[in-house]
Amino acid sequence: MRYLVFFILSTALNFLKAEPPVLVKNIWIVDVLNEAVSATQKDILIENDLIKRIDDAGKIHPSAETTVYEGNGAYVIPGMWDMHAHPDDPEVWRFNPENDQKSLLMPQFVVHGVTGIRDMAGDMDLIENWRKHIKNRTLIGPQIIAGGPLLDGPNPMWDGSVGISDAKAVGHIADSLINSGVDFLKVYSLLPRDIYLALQEYANKQGYQVAGHVPFGVKPSEAAVAGINCQEHFLEILKEVSSKEEDIGNGDIDYGNITSRLDRYVFRQNLILDTYDSEKASALYKLFAQKNTWHTPTISMWYKNAYYEDEVKADASNFEHLPKYLQTYWKSYEVNDHLQNRLPALLDYKKKEVAKYMEMIKEMHDQGVMLLAGTDVGANPLCWPGIGVHNELKLMVKAGLTPAEALQTATINPAVFLGLDAEQGTVAEGKIANLVLLNTNPLNDINALDQIATVVNQGQLLDEAKRMAILKEIKSAIGNK
Ligand SMILES: [Zn+2]
Repeated sequence: MRYLVFFILSTALNFLKAEPPVLVKNIWIVDVLNEAVSATQKDILIENDLIKRIDDAGKIHPSAETTVYEGNGAYVIPGMWDMHAHPDDPEVWRFNPENDQKSLLMPQFVVHGVTGIRDMAGDMDLIENWRKHIKNRTLIGPQIIAGGPLLDGPNPMWDGSVGISDAKAVGHIADSLINSGVDFLKVYSLLPRDIYLALQEYANKQGYQVAGHVPFGVKPSEAAVAGINCQEHFLEILKEVSSKEEDIGNGDIDYGNITSRLDRYVFRQNLILDTYDSEKASALYKLFAQKNTWHTPTISMWYKNAYYEDEVKADASNFEHLPKYLQTYWKSYEVNDHLQNRLPALLDYKKKEVAKYMEMIKEMHDQGVMLLAGTDVGANPLCWPGIGVHNELKLMVKAGLTPAEALQTATINPAVFLGLDAEQGTVAEGKIANLVLLNTNPLNDINALDQIATVVNQGQLLDEAKRMAILKEIKSAIGNK
């Protein structure tokens, strides 16, 4: 009986909480696909989380209960996606962060215009909990597509992974994960070659999406041919396109009189980079395009790491919204796995590597390889929730993409990749009302992302005052924890 009362009450509350229609007036609509802005200013009517109607400014007459928002000539882009996020990164579980602190990352995505994330490894119970609260509007956060635990080798790299030691087990493991609610399978670096190939074959048969690190024992071309849907971080590519691929694979490298492990590592990495073979690379990128193998470069993650010493100063003001456990981890040279051994020779290498990855973004894009914007927010230093996507898109423009092409990697591309393009990815009637209003035209300058006026998340309008209030609340919730 109590159960029933609770049910009625919660239904009533939900009814009370239903948002009134919203009319956003006098805005320009940015068409990221056609690199164009609407010919005239428009009004957008939002009802029940959807874009109900778009018409020329002044044509839509609001009903009495409609909230009218003056857009003042803002430029509207679709809500963005972060396609590589770890708001519950297993890498930092060893510090026992509280769930309440992890949850403070959720609203920040939205405040900065990110209305969807692809979670690339985290605890499914927590993710389900976030989803529930976001749906009930008791937590402001993005839509979450999740891969659940990392699928790694018998001795996994991180906590919470599923270590697979037998190729015969892949079907059972894949089925049980999908049945438990994960949206795709995330493969990881230590997965043995035979197990990865068996898993990929099984996933293909069942129609499960596979994304992740190309395992150490597999070439990116092999993973593409095997059917992986998306490769992350450009891992293993440089090795495959080196003219010395075979020697490097066999460990046949002449180190001269270099003896220290780190110096040898840097020497080997430089050798791989310096023997980048453009023809091999071009053939590989053609294969990616042909096999519809998508890529998430996470270039801002590589950049922030290579230039950490400068960037940590430039980003100083962002730290006040970062939960303390991440503040500490992102600044700890001693414990952070991504900040080890920062000797000049290694930093020089990392900077050269970033420059090469930037070239690769442009080359792949020109060859027709589909790209996704992802930040790796989580344990990786300076990969900010929300703002990280702005950084990613700015670097894609620096790499040679047009601002519209960069925006596509965070809007229509994720929607297509996830099979959600009927309801997301562009600003159009009938689609979910996930919108970002910018003060200036992002097609002219991608830095327009720094000037967000308002965000609409699943029909809920967060204007400047509301966004600032949320950030203030986050700051106080971080407190001295
Ligand atoms: Zn990651």
